Amino acid sequence: MKRAGHLVRPLVRKLQAYIPGEQPRIRGLIKLNTNENPYPPSPRVLKALGGALDGRLRLYPNPTAQNLREALARCHGCEPRNVIVGNGSDELLALAVRAFVEPKSDEAARGEMGGRRDSRFVVQYFTPSYSLYPVLAATHGARALGVPLGGDFALPGPSVMRNHWDRDAALTFVTTPNAPSGRGYRTTELERLCERQRGVIILDEAYADFAAENALALGLKLPHVLVARTFSKGYSLCFQRVGYFIGNPELIAALDKIRDSYNVNGLGQIAAEATLEDRGYYEANFKKVIATRERTAKELERAGFQVYPSQANFLFVRPPILEAKEWLEELRKRKILVRWFSSEECRAFLRITIGTDEQMDQLLAATRRILARV
Ligand SMILES: *Cc1c(COP(=O)(O)O)cnc(C)c1O
Repeated sequence: MKRAGHLVRPLVRKLQAYIPGEQPRIRGLIKLNTNENPYPPSPRVLKALGGALDGRLRLYPNPTAQNLREALARCHGCEPRNVIVGNGSDELLALAVRAFVEPKSDEAARGEMGGRRDSRFVVQYFTPSYSLYPVLAATHGARALGVPLGGDFALPGPSVMRNHWDRDAALTFVTTPNAPSGRGYRTTELERLCERQRGVIILDEAYADFAAENALALGLKLPHVLVARTFSKGYSLCFQRVGYFIGNPELIAALDKIRDSYNVNGLGQIAAEATLEDRGYYEANFKKVIATRERTAKELERAGFQVYPSQANFLFVRPPILEAKEWLEELRKRKILVRWFSSEECRAFLRITIGTDEQMDQLLAATRRILARV
């Protein structure tokens, strides 16, 4: 085979791709590794999708997801120009890096800026948080600046903020509630953080439906704040890839300029529209997931796990006796898949998606069997 690697840009050659959670095809597997919702989409959504499967698949979908944006605007009390829809919120996070952050200049890359940090090149985020952010920064050739969260994954205290935080960073991502820890943040503290920030801030609220409060209002109040939402986690629609941002029309218009013309597939638009017409179904699911989360947290604690309070549809736990990675393997042998991150700050923990009550009972039974053996 002739080699072609030299034809690839050096930046891309050196890139480490984002590692998504596994989607293995193992029969009977209990899949608690990627925070999918254990409950199916509403019957109305399935019916709308079924009704759309005909000759119209040959046509392009609405290029601006107009109906969906109007429905989202009604639902959040804003205007369609405050809303952009993406192929999952992941697409919009990537567009934001391209729209708001300069790729590193050659001088900056060679360190010829006299050591001065140039915030125009900076994508900033807390660690740990969504592991896609540094990958997006690297892909763009921007500078990734991870700032460590405080104890129990709280927002950092004044000294870390003074010494490490960049108030001028071109773009800042805040996962709220935090992933992978599940910690929720008060809107008041997020507002204080946003008010001090001069660059764009994205509040990534992928898990807001499982939380006691959300900060959507900040996206409509502060001109430099965008709020990211997704139909994936709360609305059982990972497969369809639909997410959106809410915020200032000028920032939204900038993202709109650089997206693909048909970035949101037609079936995704139909599914998301039907989702918004059956809110009651999903609100009942949020309640079920939250109740299962609280029960599972108590039982895992009883079994000797350290469990962090969660405002999301997963638990972040420090398991007893064995290393977290060994727990991952032991559970996998019993056909239960959870998530383990190899990074320094996460390697002692497991992240466990909340499944149905029955699935969590099987998880709990498996943990007891593992503990009885060691
Ligand atoms: C799952 C997740 C997303 C991505 O959601 P999609 O809409 O499926 O792309 C974004 N941010 C965080 C923090 C997530 O956990």
